[in-house]
Amino acid sequence: MSAENTDPVAPGELSDAENAEFEQLDCSAVIADVWLLLDNECDADVRDRLQSHIDECSSCLAHYGIESQLKNLINRKCGGDRAPDSLRDRLTGEIRKTVITRATEG
Ligand SMILES: [Zn+2]
Repeated sequence: MSAENTDPVAPGELSDAENAEFEQLDCSAVIADVWLLLDNECDADVRDRLQSHIDECSSCLAHYGIESQLKNLINRKCGGDRAPDSLRDRLTGEIRKTVITRATEG
């Protein structure tokens, strides 16, 4: 039961390996959040997590090819609009493809 915030290393001082590991974990969590957003109505916590991740790590979503679609989804769902089925289908397909690809590669 030690304190969790005893690490004195600032984010910018992490080694490349540590950085990569952190980003991977974070990006996986983001994909899980995308699923949540697809399955549920707008959730403020999920939206905030996704939005801040897009701001700081757009490269991962761009890598998945879903960055712009995800922005659309957030805007529509959290703006009170229903996400169109076509957008939902496309995002679902892209994410599934990505998850399967990553699982196979790993
Ligand atoms: Zn990321």
